[in-house]
Order: sequence, then structure tokens, then C-alpha cells
Amino acid sequence: MLDYITDKVQDENRQGEAFAPFAGDPNAYKKKFYIESYGCQMNFADSEVVASILYKEGFGATKNVEEADLIFINTCSIREKAEQSVRMRLSQFKKAKAKKPGLLVGVLGCMAERLKTKFLEEEKLVDVVVGPDAYRSLPALVNEAEGGQKAVNVLLSRDETYADISPVRLDSNGVSAFVSIMRGCNNMCSFCVVPFTRGRERSRDAESIIKECKELFEQGYREVTLLGQNVDSYYYTADNSQPVTFAMLLEKVALISPLLRVRFSTSHPKDITDDVLHTMNQYENICKYIHLPVQSGSTRVLQLMNRTYTREWYMAKVDRIRELIPDCGLSSDIIAGFCTEEEEDHKGTLSIMEYSRYDLSYMFFYSERPGTLAARRYKDDIPEEIKKRRLQEIVDLQHRLSLESNQKDLGRVFKVLIEGNSKRSDKDWMGRSTQNKVIVFPKNENALKKGDYVHVKVTDCTKATLMGEIIN
Ligand code: SAM
Ligand code: SF4
Repeated sequence: MLDYITDKVQDENRQGEAFAPFAGDPNAYKKKFYIESYGCQMNFADSEVVASILYKEGFGATKNVEEADLIFINTCSIREKAEQSVRMRLSQFKKAKAKKPGLLVGVLGCMAERLKTKFLEEEKLVDVVVGPDAYRSLPALVNEAEGGQKAVNVLLSRDETYADISPVRLDSNGVSAFVSIMRGCNNMCSFCVVPFTRGRERSRDAESIIKECKELFEQGYREVTLLGQNVDSYYYTADNSQPVTFAMLLEKVALISPLLRVRFSTSHPKDITDDVLHTMNQYENICKYIHLPVQSGSTRVLQLMNRTYTREWYMAKVDRIRELIPDCGLSSDIIAGFCTEEEEDHKGTLSIMEYSRYDLSYMFFYSERPGTLAARRYKDDIPEEIKKRRLQEIVDLQHRLSLESNQKDLGRVFKVLIEGNSKRSDKDWMGRSTQNKVIVFPKNENALKKGDYVHVKVTDCTKATLMGEIIN
């Protein structure tokens, strides 16, 4: 079975994360829910919306699955491996169900959307199946399921953005938060299941986004990441008012406070505009970092992928970013072994990586997804060992590029937002530079706390991390 390899991926560390907000919450809840999330940041943000809906109905979160009356698993369909992990996890809940009659198990998210009622047939233990646009109906569905019925809502919507729901921040570090600004995707990249599982693209009311970001700032958060599958195509028009583009939205969020850092993800190379780049330059608190997935370095493969840009066009976009924002961090997503990929195409991917000098990449095997354009039109014809070998070459190259990029930072001073203790030692802080690089440095005697900004001089590095010391 094909696996995917990623590099320095904070997302991978979060797979299967379960949440319990409000440690020591004094409220008495009628029932406890347990929620585990897989996949992209959007899914983690959605779990916070789900938690908010359930809290309103009097359910409280627990991190202890044995204590739960409801178990939810928020799923991802992007690759076959992701779906397998969920199935394995579900089979583990069988035991919990046998021990506790009345316990309900629900599948949320992309896999629920893709498999719909098949889930109820295939995985006999599932009671509730809810797609990404139907979370408002969760309380009613839970009611139905409690009455012994199987409850399903996988309707996709053209306008649901959950704009009015304040997500409950689950297990957050209290410093950085994700804010959904749009849902769905209108691009039809031929390998991708997202347009089928998350529906049409729609932008969330700009005012509700600003309000959420302001509230986060007032609660002490110092960084927001604006999330969408394709943030640069954000476009919101309220009745009788001027449309808000992504560049305008960025500016509005940046103006909340110079102390609030603003990040965004993901940018489709075809949609990121000079306006966005100029806005980034104009505000110090808009982080100088762009995630700009290339997927392949071969124009022929990019066409089959339906990415709507060529190799040269992508390189020109990288040039433009480097010209306008010379110190910008850049990262990418790359797929190895897409249908018909030749050795020459693969070399094109390696050379575009060299050209772009990515600080970081998320790197995957191609995994055919049922129902996608590629599954319908092309044969998944690259043998597994070739996919693996090409992916390994991509990973090795990225490791070298990441190390080179970090070595260039030796001796430089960065403004760092402290996110918390370093993973290895509570004597060290961990934070990020505007370019999104992780920096670890000793606390020493400084009276600092998470959420503070501090200047750090880089003294050492690995391919994944910068190490440094505080500059007073
Ligand atoms: N919307 C973003 C974009 O356009 O780049 C990313 C969406 S997707 C959740 C994240 C990444 O998963 C993609 O950029 C792609 O590299 C990878 N991916 C998507 N479908 C895949 C597939 N069928 N096989 C392997 N990787 C895939
Ligand atoms: Fe998938 Fe392409 Fe949309 Fe990204 S832009 S979510 S890769 S269809």
C-alpha cells in the first residue's frame, strides 16, 4: 500500500488529535463528546465549529474516549492512506461500543461526504454520518440516532459558511488560531477529491471574519491564519456595498492591531495577485510567507492535472514574489508519480524545486481517488516502486534545500512570536519568524511569556529548525 511522505509537517503531528477545551470547566453537561480530527487545517477548524454547535446543545468535550457518550471522527479523503487510518481507528471504537450500550459513533467531514450511506452499510458501528456543510443539523441527527435510527446528512450547500458560529478553540496554544474565510473549491485539479467532498467555493462574510479575528486578539491571540483551499479567490459582496477581495480582507485583518500577525493558506499560483503581494509588503504584521503548491514541474503533467498554469508561468510567479518581497518564505505541495509521468517530467519537478528554493514542501505519492477527473480519464500507470523512488528523490532534494535555506539564516536576527515551550525542553522557548520558520532558544532569565515578541539571533540550525539566542 502506498504511503505518503511529508517533511517537517506540523499537520502530521496533529493527525488523530483529540480535544478537551476548558480544562477544569465547572459546567455540568448532559452528555460528553469526544472528537478526533484528521486531514488538513480546514478539518481542524471545522471540528471547532462542531464543538461550538454541540456546546450550545449542552454537550461537553472530553479527551477521554471512555467517558464519551458521542464519539466523532472528522475525516479526510485526500489520499487512500488517510481513509485507511480512519477505518482502522473506527474498528478500535467497536470495543468501546460493546462496553457501553447507547454510545454513538459519528463520521464527519470529507469521507462522510464521499461514502455517504455506504458508511452505514460497510462500517456497521457507525450511527451518524455528516458532511462538511451539514454540521448545523448535528444535534437533530444525534437525537435521531439516540432514538435508534441511523442518521445521515451529506447535503452540500452553496452558501453555508458557518459565518455566525464562533468556533470553540480546542486545545489551542492560546497564541495562534485558524480562521476559515471560505469553503469548498471551484478548481477542478484532476487528482483532487476536494471539490466533490467540500462542494462549490463560497466566501464568508468579511465582517464576521474581522469580528472573529478581533475577538481572538482581545482574548490574547497574537496570530491568525486565514484558511481556504484557494484563499486568493476570496471575494465577498454584501448587499449594496463594495466587494471585498482577498487583498482587501488581508488589509482589514492586519489593521486590527500591529501586534496581531496574519498568515494565510493556501494560495493557488494562478490566483495570487500583485495586489496581495503589495498588501503583504505594506503591513509588517502580514507574515512574509506564501504556501504556493506547484504539484509538478512539467507543463505536460500540469496540463493533465488541470492546474491551469505552465512551468514557465509558475517560475515567473516565483520571480515576481522574490522581486516584490525578497525575504519571503516559500513552501510547496508536490505529487510524485502522477499518471503518465516520465523521467523527464520528474526531472522537471526536481529542477523547479531548485529554482524556487522552497523552505519546506509537503510531498506525496499520487493516490488515485474514485470519482476524480484523473480517475475517470487516465490510467494510474506509474508502478509503485517508481513512485516511491521519485518521491524519495524529491524528499532528499527538499531536505538539502531546507538545510541550505536555514544555513543562510545563520547570524541573522528575527522577530519571533513565542508560541510556547520547545518540544524538547521547558527551559527553551519555541516560536516562528515571519517566514514561518521554527526557532528554538533558551529562556534564560528573561521575563517573557508565550504571545510575546522577541528578537532572536540565529546561532545554529538543522534542516527543520533554527536555534538561537535572545538579543536584548
Ligand atoms: N487547495 C490546495 C491547493 O490547491 O494546493 C491544497 C489542497 S489538498 C488538501 C493538499 C495537497 O494534497 C495538494 O496540494 C496535493 O499536493 C495533495 N493531493 C491532493 N490530491 C492528491 C492525490 N490524489 N494524491 C496525492 N496527493 C494529493
Ligand atoms: Fe484540490 Fe485543486 Fe481545489 Fe486545491 S485547488 S482543493 S488541489 S481542486
